[in-house]
This record gives sequence, structure tokens and C-alpha cells, in this order.
Amino acid sequence: MLVLGTPRQEASLQELAERLGGRAAGVFAQARQHVPAAIAAAAADRARELGADGCVAVGGGSSVGLGKAVALRHGLPVVAVPTTYAGSEMTPIWGLTEDGVKRTGRDRAVLPRSVVYDPELTRTLPVGLSVTSGLNAVAHAVEGLWAPDGTPITALMAEEGVRAMLAALPVIVGSPGDLDARSEVLQGAWLCGAVLGATTMSLHHKLCHVLGGSFDLPHAETHAVVLPHVVAHNGPAAPAAVAALGRALGVAPGPDTVTEALAARARDLGAPTSLAALGMPRDGIPTVVEQVLAAPYANPGPVTRESLTALLQAAY
Ligand code: NAD
Repeated sequence: MLVLGTPRQEASLQELAERLGGRAAGVFAQARQHVPAAIAAAAADRARELGADGCVAVGGGSSVGLGKAVALRHGLPVVAVPTTYAGSEMTPIWGLTEDGVKRTGRDRAVLPRSVVYDPELTRTLPVGLSVTSGLNAVAHAVEGLWAPDGTPITALMAEEGVRAMLAALPVIVGSPGDLDARSEVLQGAWLCGAVLGATTMSLHHKLCHVLGGSFDLPHAETHAVVLPHVVAHNGPAAPAAVAALGRALGVAPGPDTVTEALAARARDLGAPTSLAALGMPRDGIPTVVEQVLAAPYANPGPVTRESLTALLQAAY
């Protein structure tokens, strides 16, 4: 197996390779956010050269995404060992970025064959990244709640995922080494990731994709900022989702109460709360509006130029 991960986690990748002994073909520690195509090609070549019969991807969405890219090219199976809460390990969704454009697709071949969830491995995840990758997971569950192909099972998983995540993240902020809280958040991440893998995403993901691609904004932070604004926008057209979120958050089931509760939780967790703080230029709003309106996607309610502009101005 070829052990994959980011440069920052190289020491733990080497340690895993040592423990795997003769089963490890090598270590490739060059994973980066959004899976640059050149790095994916280099990892796939390395796997071929070393005669690897699979990959072990250790880390967050960037590492798992690299494993998926190798699977896409050579059909090698991936074992995922997630160390953030992004949830990519539970989805057949791959992404590749070339010349500043990120392509994504779905392919069963990239879905990891096995996932090893070990909360010990998330203890070193800094509080800020714990919070933003956790809120990224919450965004997957929220969109799963109003997805056109959601089912009663995915709705239950999404509600419990949001509840677990938002119940235990505050504990981690105060006590990053708390293994019980890390376990509960990881369980929430698993549920939210499985919802992402099983349903079609809507306006929130479309917006974050365009924002990230156009201004190189950080992935998880962008999700954290945008989510309450999309809930405010879509909530009136998605009463069942709002009711589930009300139960998960322990507040009355209305679009306003749920939006305010989500925003307050994010604020209390210390997550970024504006696109301005992430480095987006204010004059970029019309470009985003045009790009989002140009491509069709599923959404529970209508999206107009005016409503989208207002949403982005509020998030800015
Ligand atoms: P990440 O994988 O980019 O990791 C962020 C940083 O945290 C990296 O430097 C990494 O080395 C470090 N890190 C990870 N785990 C750590 C740990 N336990 N201790 C210390 N440091 C640790 O971040 P992410 O938020 O997990 O993933 C974001 C990427 O995943 C984006 O590119 C996004 O598009 C993708 N994603 C894909 C899917 C999918 O289904 N395909 C789902 C969610 C996210």
C-alpha cells in the first residue's frame, strides 16, 4: 500500500508505514487542498512505480481526495484514515484542480473500501480546524435535509450528525484533548459525510464552490461563513429541514430561530463570520451571482439575482 497524506503530517505517515512493515510500498506526503492535477498524477505514477496495490490515505479531505484521484486513474482501492471532520471518506465524490478550475464528479471506484475512525488521531487537530471542518460537515447534513433525493434514513442521519457535532464541538474548544468529545464529533462527521455521499447538494455547495474557485478562499472556513445565510435564504421553502434543525439545535422550528441558532453557535465556537475576513473583495459579489445563476442545480426554493445578491452582501 502507498501511504498518502499532507507534508504537515509526514511524521505520522512514516510511523504508519513502519508499522505496516512489508505491506507499505512507500510514503507520498504531498497532498494539498483541492487536489491539484499535477500532484494527483505524481501520486498515481508513484503508486505504479512502487507496484502498490492500494493506498492508505491519512488526513483530512485533501489526503483522502488524493487517494481518490489515484483510484480514479488506476482503480486502486483506498483505505481512509480520516483525521479531520470533513467527511470525504464516506463519499464517491472526487475533485481535481487544473489551471485554477476545480472539476468534481461521482464514481463508485473512488469510495474508500474501508474507513478507520480513531478519535486519538484527531487529538492533534487544532481547535480552529476542528471547528471549521466540523461546520463543513454540518453544511453537508443541512443540504442533505433539503436534498431532492433525501430519504427518511438520510434525514435521521443528518439530524443526528448536526446534533452530535454541535453538542461536542464546544467541549473540544474548551478542552481539545477530550477523547469523549472527539469521539462524538467523529461520529457526527461520519453521519454528515454519509449524508453528503447519498444526496445531491444545493445552493450552499454551489456558492462555496464558486467562492472558493474565484477567490481562492479556504474551503472549510467558507462553508462556516456561508451556511447560516443559506439557511436563512432556503429555510422558508424547506419546512421539514428547518424542523429537523430545530430539534438538532434545541430551538423552536422556524427559519429565523434556526438561522440565529446556527450563527450563534458558529460565533461562540470562534469560527470566521464574514467573507470579508476570508479575503473576498466586495466588488466580487456580482461575479459570484452571475456564476451561480449560470449553472443549474437543485434547490428547495427559487434563487433570484436579488435574493442571491442580498445573501452574499449579508455574508460579506
Ligand atoms: P485538509 O485535509 O486540507 O487538512 C487541513 C490541514 O490540517 C492540513 O494541513 C493537514 O495536514 C492538517 N491536519 C489534518 N488532520 C490533522 C490532525 N489530526 N492533526 C494536525 N493537523 C492535521 O482539510 P479538510 O477540511 O479535511 O479537507 C478540505 C478538502 O477536502 C477540500 O479540498 C474539500 O474540497 C475536500 N472535501 C471533499 C469532500 C468529498 O466528498 N470529496 C468532502 C469534504 C471535503
